[in-house]
Amino acid sequence: MSDNDHAFLAPSSAARWVKCRASPMLEQQYPEMDGDGSAAAEGTAAHWAALRELQMRPVDPGEVHEGVVITLDMLDAVHDYASIVRSAPGVPFYETRVHAVTVHPDVWGTADCFKVDYEAQTVYLFDFKYGHSPVEAFGNYQLATYALAIAGLLALGPEWKVVARIFQPRVYRPEGPTLRWDTTVGGLEPYRAELADAATEATGNNPSTVVGSHCKHCKARHICKALRQSSLDAVDQANDSTPMELTDHGLGVEMSLLVQAQRNLEARLSGLQAQAMANIREGRDVLGWGIEHNAGREEWTAKPAEIIAKFGKIVEKEMAVITPAQARKAGADLNAVAEISQRKPGSAKLVQIDTTKARKAFAQ
Ligand code: SF4
Repeated sequence: MSDNDHAFLAPSSAARWVKCRASPMLEQQYPEMDGDGSAAAEGTAAHWAALRELQMRPVDPGEVHEGVVITLDMLDAVHDYASIVRSAPGVPFYETRVHAVTVHPDVWGTADCFKVDYEAQTVYLFDFKYGHSPVEAFGNYQLATYALAIAGLLALGPEWKVVARIFQPRVYRPEGPTLRWDTTVGGLEPYRAELADAATEATGNNPSTVVGSHCKHCKARHICKALRQSSLDAVDQANDSTPMELTDHGLGVEMSLLVQAQRNLEARLSGLQAQAMANIREGRDVLGWGIEHNAGREEWTAKPAEIIAKFGKIVEKEMAVITPAQARKAGADLNAVAEISQRKPGSAKLVQIDTTKARKAFAQ
């Protein structure tokens, strides 16, 4: 689902604000804090290609959307997603702004795609996720929020069925890339009550912070006092050298606590790393840390038709154009390839740098 319209209580972050009700307020203060944004840009490009496919205006490999090149892999995923959507009956709605007014007036977002089968009294809801983090369909707050919003928009009764599907082509699961949650509008009532309660507190004067696995993608994780405290507590506990024999029960409990502490530390660290990247990019000095760039992807700067006109059949493979490196290997003229291709800077990575030499030099 695309919540790029910056709702205060976006359905896409419902799993977070249901647990930590202060997160919308804190995230609003730090809207830009999330790494270099390349994963989000890739997701946006994949959604754009999916919409074009569903509207029967397919995108060609090599086309660019907001700086992201549409690859063959992405288009394979888009085709699979579109065929799942097409296999469901009903009237389709694409990119539709829906307000979950039965939850709270501030909860709204843009649903990528849903279909309404009036005869079978069924809503089919589709969520295309192009990221690598696995997401469950059953009990998913984002899906529940969208389904409640659609039910409100179309005045659907509690007997209406809801078939929600999450399609994650880049997450390997033995059962395949599609997960499904079957419920009814009436069956979503407990979720509506929980979401409404959370939304009321989140928009109130004193929302509470609660640390947990939902901190992982919180934009406020670098400034969050609660997460900081929980991370420091975990470090303190790890440094405690008092010997202690654990019972089997205690062993299990402590391992569960440490797994949670590890997740909290990872969330805090990734927030600090995003902050450090932003500071270094502004030219500030973050002691012991610097930025390195990976070798970037080489890509064509011309449209597929121009590339084929220039090199002929040599660059065609299965209705698509091969990469510049493959074209060189296939015998294309090196200078001609260089004229219509470029290597973009690779993704930036935060690295620890050795400050010992610099400190020694200043000490002399
Ligand atoms: S980092 Fe975690 S505890 Fe802090 S505001 Fe975000 S979700 Fe809440």
